[in-house]
Amino acid sequence: MKRIFISDLHLDGYRKDLTRAFTQFLSEQCQTINELYILGDFFELWLGDDDQSPLNNEVIEALSSLPCDVFIMHGNRDFLIGKAFCNAAGAKLLPDPYPIILGDQPALLMHGDSLCTRDEEYMKARTLLRSDAFQQDFLSKQMQERKIIAEQIRGKSQKVSREKAEDIMDVTPEEVTKVMNQAKTSILVHGHTHRPAVHEVDLHFGPGTRYVLGDWHTSTQFLRADGSDLELVKYVF
Ligand code: MN
Repeated sequence: MKRIFISDLHLDGYRKDLTRAFTQFLSEQCQTINELYILGDFFELWLGDDDQSPLNNEVIEALSSLPCDVFIMHGNRDFLIGKAFCNAAGAKLLPDPYPIILGDQPALLMHGDSLCTRDEEYMKARTLLRSDAFQQDFLSKQMQERKIIAEQIRGKSQKVSREKAEDIMDVTPEEVTKVMNQAKTSILVHGHTHRPAVHEVDLHFGPGTRYVLGDWHTSTQFLRADGSDLELVKYVF
């Protein structure tokens, strides 16, 4: 079973180069694999499945013509991706976290934002934004109004991020070991932090490995899995 894991593409209507890189990646890397996993922040912003932007239509077209199965997990920027988009794209929406088996190894897939528990302000905002009440209210508004609200939230979070200490923006190591111990998994794959790397983790039952995927704005690193053989690979476009 051949799989590819990507995240944090942050596709944006203003960044046609990224959309091009993504479609090129699909034709170069994803034609002979079984499964493609997109682990969140696929889009820079998601206003709702009813947003018929040229970018969204192009992505639907590209994903639906892939020969492999496609799985999508929410990120903190595109958590409003819904069933309508996934159906159109021929993709399956995954909950976060999501357990899978790689070869004979249990692994856990996450976006990664829920591991950044030291950022208390963000964790609070996350709970609010993910609530049904917020989402229903947001999605009931006109597209133009949704855009304004989303940009306000984004402007606020960018300003706040710049002022926060570097280590707060990374995962909490204790949260990583807690999650991996609870799930009894020695492999964790996530994105979000934009710090692509392979980390060793000490778990109750032995050594574990945490694979962090890269974002497509700075260092495009994706995970390639052939059975239980895993490799973090740099993609140059
Ligand atoms: Mn993220």
